[in-house]
This record gives sequence, C-alpha cells and structure tokens, in this order.
Amino acid sequence: MQLANCCLLYKAPQIRLPHPHLVLYAGNRNGICPRPMVRYSGFRLLAEALRGHRGWGPAWRKASPKSSYEVVIVGGGGHGLATAYYLAKNHGITDVAVLERGGIGLGNVGRNTTIIRSNYFSRENIRFYDFSLKLWEGLEQDLNYNAMVSQRGALNLVHADGQRDQLARRANQMLLEGVDAELLDKQGVKKLVPLIDTDNGRFPVIGGFLQKRGGTVRHDAVAWGYARAADARGVDIVETCEVTGLRREGEAITGVETSRGFIGAKKVLFAVAGHSSRLAEMAGFRLPIETHVLQAFVSEGVKPLIDCVVTYGAGHFYVSQSDKGGLVFGGALDGYNTYARRGNLPMVEDVLAAGLTLMPALGRLRVLRQWGGTMDMSLDGNPIISTTPVANLFLNGGWCYGGFKAIPAGGFTTAHLVATGQPHPLIAHFGLERFREGRMIDERGVGPYAWMH
Ligand SMILES: Cc1cc2nc3c(=O)[nH]c(=O)nc-3n(C[C@H](O)[C@H](O)[C@H](O)COP(=O)(O)OP(=O)(O)OC[C@H]3O[C@@H](n4cnc5c(N)ncnc54)[C@H](O)[C@@H]3O)c2cc1C
Repeated sequence: MQLANCCLLYKAPQIRLPHPHLVLYAGNRNGICPRPMVRYSGFRLLAEALRGHRGWGPAWRKASPKSSYEVVIVGGGGHGLATAYYLAKNHGITDVAVLERGGIGLGNVGRNTTIIRSNYFSRENIRFYDFSLKLWEGLEQDLNYNAMVSQRGALNLVHADGQRDQLARRANQMLLEGVDAELLDKQGVKKLVPLIDTDNGRFPVIGGFLQKRGGTVRHDAVAWGYARAADARGVDIVETCEVTGLRREGEAITGVETSRGFIGAKKVLFAVAGHSSRLAEMAGFRLPIETHVLQAFVSEGVKPLIDCVVTYGAGHFYVSQSDKGGLVFGGALDGYNTYARRGNLPMVEDVLAAGLTLMPALGRLRVLRQWGGTMDMSLDGNPIISTTPVANLFLNGGWCYGGFKAIPAGGFTTAHLVATGQPHPLIAHFGLERFREGRMIDERGVGPYAWMH
C-alpha cells in the first residue's frame, strides 16, 4: 500500500497543525472530534526519519473501563473492532467499549492465512462478500493505516469435469451480480503459477477458477488499523478485560461482569468467534456453533515464487506468499471439538502431503512456524449476525474458516444492526432464526447439510 496515496485520498474531516505534529481529528457525524489521531503519511515518515523516529506515539490508548456505556462489544477481534469503528463513523455512537480478554490482534484476526475474496455461489453471499471486498479496496485510505491490501488474485484449481461445471455455475452467478470471475484452462493455470505440477498422478489439474480482485491483507494490521481509528473516534478499547457473566433485568440486558468489575450497558454485542458458545451459555441460550481448531503454517522466506493465492480443493491446501517471502499455507480443520490453539500432527502431515502433491518443489523448504485458531463452526457453514433471545443482546459469530475477508462488511452491517435494531439488507439471511425455521443457507449448492461445508 502506498502511504503517499493515503495522504492524498483520505477524506475525513481534518485540521492540519504546523509541522512536526500533523494531527488528524477524525470527527463523528456531528463534526465533534473526540480525540486527536496522529496522521500517517509519507511526509510524516520522512519527518520522523529525520528526527530519529521519536515522535510516534501509541496507536491507541490503553483505556480503563468506565462504569457504563451505551454499547459494550465483547471481543477485540476484527469484527468487534470494525463494529466499534462503524458505530462511531456511520451512526455517531461513540459511547462504546470494546472489551478484550487478552491483547488486540491475538485472536483469529491475527492467526489466519489472510485471504480475501468474494467468489461465492449464493446471490446473497456474493453481495455480502463483494461489499466487503469493496470496503477492503478503500480501507487503507479510510483508516489511514497500511494494511497491505494486495489484490493479487485468488485461484481455485479444477481437477474434475463435475467440479468445473460447479465452478462455472459459481462464476456465472458472480458475473450476473457484476462481480469478476474467470475460468482458466490448464495452460492458463500453468502460465499463472508455473510451480504447479498440473500432471501429478493423484489429482491432475485440468483448469482453474480465478477472481483477480481476490488476494491477501496483512491480518494483524487490520486489527491495529481498526483499533486506532475507533479509538480516535472516542471508542474505549479495554484490553485484559475478560467478560465472565451477564446481568439482566427481566428479559433485557443491563451489563456485563468482567475481570475488572461490572460494566453497565444499554446494548451488548458478542463478537468472540471461537468463544461464541461459551458467551451464549452465560446469557442462557445455546447456539448452533461448534468450536474446532484450524492450523496454519509459514515457511522460511524465499524469492518470489507464487504471486497469487492458490487453493487446491482436492487435497485441501491453500497457499500464498507473504511480502517477506514466506509461504503461508493451511488446510482443513483437525476435526474434533477443542478450544486449544495448537492442532495435532496428523493434520500437519495431511496439509504438507497435499502441498507436495501440488508443488513437489516445496519439499526443499523448511517450515518455520505453525499455529492454530479456535474456529466458530456454524451448522450450515455461514455466519450469524443477529439479534438473540435476550433483548438488546446481539451476536456476530459463526464465521467458520472465512471471517477474515468479511471483517469490513461484518463490522459495517453489525453496527447497523446494533444501532437500528434492524438487520442491514446485506445480512437479512444471516439471522439466528434460520436454524429454528429450517432455512439453512445452501452456499455450496449441494443441499443444506451441516457436514457439507
Ligand atoms: C488458521 C486460520 C486460518 C484462517 N484463514 C482465513 C482466511 O484465509 N480468510 C478468511 O477470510 N478467514 C480465515 N480464517 C477465519 C478468520 O480468521 C476468523 O473467521 C475471524 O478472524 C473471526 O473473527 P474475529 O476476527 O472477530 O475473531 P477473533 O480475532 O478471534 O476475535 C474474538 C476475540 O474475542 C475475545 N474473547 C473471547 N472470549 C472473551 C471474553 N469472555 N471476554 C472478552 N474477550 C473475549 C478473544 O480473545 C478474541 O480476541 C482463518 C482462521 C484461522 C484460525
């Protein structure tokens, strides 16, 4: 991303103070400027370089919790922080606290394989995820933060005629919705990623399905960027503050019990991803969500090798190359319920075997790191952004493997729901009631079976 560009394009209300402290006042919709935010720009970088980088302050305050707020958001991951930001930016609601039990960026938002795309099948999902992609496209200017948004293309490999037919249907649906999609033949795949062994004996590659606007974003920068921008608009970001219980009066929520005492709230949002079921249990209801571990890996850094995201469905392996040169890759869930963020060796073997089948040259690379994240697997593989059985308690969860790409749209639409009490049209199909009413989302076009995602 281009620091200089964001300097030129940023449109928020601002006051420029004399050098060296260029200060941005990111005003809310009433033009009120809650908190000064140091503006990042190429010029600022240059100025700091000349004075030993002594002028950079913390990106956000370490807020202490107040006794009560209009909105309390539980979970300082991507969705919680983005919701706080859009509540302030779009709805002028700044009396908001984000309560995070650990540190910002340490949950799934900082543990994923950073892939963004909108190559979905169902019309509603294409619209939702493409809205997210559009927000990603302007995010760095909006937040004044370098999130390294890289639209390098997302390629799904095709191994069988039936799979090609299914992906062609998907591509047609996307084109009908005005979203870019391309089918490639075998030569097209080989040209794009020469490293792929298209003639491998196990799952030969016969073509590809490419979305050029897909790509990657630096994951933890997304958390930091939203945290900084929300803080600048007056949101309190309270770290090391675990929610341990809820207080209700009758059917309505009145606040949350935390490791730092009781905090009153008119409205509460759960945005805790893998811990959604535990929080719902505190509130007295059950969710159609299971928690599983998903692992990811990064190799030693090498020269540019793969310049798009490659997804290999037959063996379940996906890979991209980070700007530092490491290959970032992952595969399927470990397949058992757990809150542990480690994962086990059989899945490590499975992922590496799939990678080597596809790109035998990777066999000479060393894996540097491996980690896991707690996935909130919903029954139909689609997210839940919804009201709940408890009045004034809202839920953002059930993201499964795919919630990173959805962070901008998830935050935008969740903020709408919390502010107005009504679902944004883009998330009308994500309501919790769909499980009670048997209206599960059939994203794959293979039947609404829980085990098919
Ligand atoms: C290995 C891996 C690879 C992935 N790859 C991709 C990908 O390539 N593309 C994609 O789109 N998605 C991907 N995902 C999924 C994506 O990362 C998640 O769906 C998304 O980040 C979840 O939303 P979040 O960021 O809000 O969650 P999180 O960052 O997990 O935020 C939830 C927060 O809630 C906090 N919390 C929990 N309980 C409490 C409590 N009681 N009190 C206070 N705070 C609490 C947690 O500490 C955590 O910080 C991947 C996930 C993993 C693990």
